[in-house]
Order: sequence, then C-alpha cells, then structure tokens
Amino acid sequence: MDSFDFDLFTIGAGSGGVAASRRAASYGARVGIAENWRVGGTCVLRGCVPKKLLVYGTHFAHEMEDARGFGWDVSGTLDWGKLVAAKNVETKRLEGIYQTMLDNAKVETFLGAAKLVDAHTVAIGDKRITAKYILIATGGRPERPAIPGIVHSITSNEALDLTSLPRRITIVGGGYIAVEFAGIFRAAGSEVTLVVRSPKILRGFDEDVRDHLTSELVRQGIEIRANSKVAHIDKIGWILRAALEDGSSLDTEQIMYATGRVPNADGLGLEEIGVVRDKAGAVAVDEWQQTSVPGIYAVGDVTNRVNLTPVAIAEGRGLAETLFNANPTTVDHNDIASAVFSQPPVGTVGLSQSDAERLHGIDGVDIYRAVFRPMKHTLSGRQEKTLMKLVVEAATGRVRGLHMVGADAPEIAQAFAVAVKAGLTKKDFDRTIAVHPTAAEEFVLMREKVKR
Ligand code: NDP
Repeated sequence: MDSFDFDLFTIGAGSGGVAASRRAASYGARVGIAENWRVGGTCVLRGCVPKKLLVYGTHFAHEMEDARGFGWDVSGTLDWGKLVAAKNVETKRLEGIYQTMLDNAKVETFLGAAKLVDAHTVAIGDKRITAKYILIATGGRPERPAIPGIVHSITSNEALDLTSLPRRITIVGGGYIAVEFAGIFRAAGSEVTLVVRSPKILRGFDEDVRDHLTSELVRQGIEIRANSKVAHIDKIGWILRAALEDGSSLDTEQIMYATGRVPNADGLGLEEIGVVRDKAGAVAVDEWQQTSVPGIYAVGDVTNRVNLTPVAIAEGRGLAETLFNANPTTVDHNDIASAVFSQPPVGTVGLSQSDAERLHGIDGVDIYRAVFRPMKHTLSGRQEKTLMKLVVEAATGRVRGLHMVGADAPEIAQAFAVAVKAGLTKKDFDRTIAVHPTAAEEFVLMREKVKR
C-alpha cells in the first residue's frame, strides 16, 4: 500500500465524497480529495441548504399574514437582495467548516479538475497522484432540454443567486426543485407559473399528495399549466416569451428550468479506462459501490440511484467501513424518507398507495386518510388544509407508507420513518397515546379505513 501516494483518493468534495474521506481517514487511511469548484458540493452550496434558507426567509410572508389573526399588527416587505446576501454568508461559512473538517481529519485537499489516468492514478493538471482506491463522488448538475432560446433560461443554480426578485417567473418542471422554487418565489411576491409536461406535479409521489399540494399551490395563486411544454423562448427587450406547444405564450421576467439533473461523469476519463456508465450516463456500481473497474468506486448522485444527500453520505461512510474498518457495509435503499420543501411542505416515507396496490393488490392494501384544517388556522383565517395518509398492508397490518402535506411535514415524516423502517403495524400506531394538541397525533388516531 505504501507505494501509492494515498490509500483513498476521492474526486468531488460534496456530501458523499467528504463523508467517505473523513470516515476513511478516521481509520488511519491516507486520504486525498479533489474539488474543481468549492468544497461542500451541491447540497451545501447550491442545493438543500441555500434552498431551505430561502424557504425560511420567504415563509415569513405567510407567518405575518397568519399573525394578524392572533392580534398582531404586522406587515412588511422582503428585501430579496438582503436575503440572498445573508444566505451567501451562511454557505460561505459552511464551506469553511467543510474545509476545516477535512483538514482536521488530515485529508489533503487538491483544488482542480481531476481525471482518471488508470485504475490507480489521477491527474490534476500536470500533477499525477496515485492511490490504492479511487472514489468518484462528482454529483450531478441541472439538465435543460435543447430547445431554441434555452440560453435565456436559468436553473436552480442561478435562481439561488438572483440579485433582484423577478416580478414574474415561469418555472418549467413539476418535480422537487420546481415545486420548491415556486413556493419560494410566490411567497416572496412574484407571480409564478409552473409549466408541467405531465397531467400532475410530483410524479412518483402518492396521488393524494400530488392532488392536495396542487390545490394548495393554486390557492396561493401559483398558476399551474399542466400537460404543457415550452417549444421555444424568445427575448424581446427585457421580456422573455415562452412559446408553448399549444400555441399560447407566457411573457415573463425569468424562466427557470427544473427538468431534472444528470450525473457529472463527463471528462473524468471513465471510458478510457473502462468504467462502465448506464444509459442515463451514470457510473454503474454494485451494492458495494464498486464500479466495473476493481478499486474504483462511486457514491451519490453520479450513480443516479436515490439522489438525496443523506443517501450519498451513507454510501460514502459505508464504503469507508468496508475498505478500511473490516466492516462490510451496504446501504438499504428502501423506505428512505424524503421531503419536498414546498409551502406547505411534503413529508413522505415508504410506498405510495398505487405502488402498494401494485405489490399487494387493491384488496391487499388498507388506506387511512385525514384532511383537516390545522388548529393554528382557526384564528389565522388561512384556508390551508393538512393531508395525512397511511398505507397499510392488509394481511400483516404493517404500515408500508406514510404521507403528509402540511406544516412540519418533513419533521414529522423523519420521526415516523423509524416506525415504518422498523416494520411497525397499524396496531402499534393505534396503541401509541397521542401528544395533544399536535398535527402529528393524527397519525396515531386514524380509525376508519377509507372506502374505495
Ligand atoms: P425531478 O426528476 O424530480 O423532476 C423533473 C421534472 O421535470 C418532472 O416534473 C419532469 O416531468 C419534468 N421534465 C423532465 N424533462 C422535461 C422536459 N424535457 N420538458 C419539460 N419537463 C420535463 O427533478 P428535479 O430537477 O426537480 O430534482 C432532481 C433530483 O434532485 C430529485 O429527483 C431529487 O432526487 C433531488 N432533490 C431532492 C430534494 C429534496 O429532497 N427536498 C430537493 C431537490 C432535489 P415528468 O414528471 O413528466 O417526468
């Protein structure tokens, strides 16, 4: 092992790469890491963290409205530039913390684009670095369709750094990112149109969640153009005109594309050394994060499996356990809770109703559902309703899916994810005494199966 410069060399200092590197170093491995942008990666610098700070920042608009119903004489306007600047200070701070964590772990950082030369060698500029194991953790990036005028559009990367708030914004896509940014811009005061190519937003989510969130977004004044696609974009003075395929058009100040992300796997020299990529361009790996070339591994979004930060971290740490702690570790990709930080947010874990029905048959699944106006809104006057839903396997009583749209849904789903992962049954939920008055208590109080 000593003939190599490092025991592990990681390409990409995002969530997965940093987690793997630090854990490996904690077991005494000599670790190097390359980063061609800023240490911290997508989640910390242009994903989860800055996005959630903008969700917090803009959600005050709703809270101020709500406060009036409780006797507060409160109103105000948002200084968008100040919010973005404050968010940038925080992401810069986190970048520093990530670098410090790497330094403290004695992981050597190389700033620059790394390319694989062979199974044990990486090039960064003129430098050649050798390692026993190489880890590809280069993440993903937004992908836009190649329609005429697409250069006039932005992605979430630029949306996070807009220095002024667009009066009108058109967001193309109906996934996590589109829905989250629709909430941010609407709460900040923009007129927002979502252009969704499918009949509904959030494909893959439970149908009740999709419908419920749609009606909440529409209630807030977000226009949703379903079954619609942009054919081309024209810039007319300062106006952007999105021509839709149905012949209509939308005039807007910004057009943001949130039509999915692709793996960052180009230019790494993968093909040259025989690292196989799948049809989507992702690095193909097995359950041990092993690529087609022995000694080269990949974790996180570049493998395009479950593209969530905590999954990349678990994969990275698992790899370090396997390689450097004689503790072979794989990651179970089932029943991973996730959230959409829309306003109101979504929290979900386990199977949707339709997925459960496909697995167990329609009669093999019991559904429990509650839709109610939260107590807070009896005084606030807000018409927002909360949805909570349990998907239960009839034969065993096991709770296979738990879904919520409403305030604190991500926090609530995180806590209940333990119960779903542990395979607890509806009876276990029933014999849990409620915490009152909360919204979460509804999950242990549902008695009536929904009639279908
Ligand atoms: P998603 O894959 O979630 O959604 C993409 C959306 O764009 C879908 O509505 C899709 O429609 C639509 N679309 C795809 N191609 C086109 C096209 N050519 N023209 C028009 N519409 C198109 O991608 P996101 O970019 O929203 O997010 C990427 C991933 O990042 C997520 O899947 C998730 O893993 C992760 N993420 C997680 C977050 C969280 O945990 N809170 C937040 C943000 C991102 P259709 O439904 O018809 O396919």
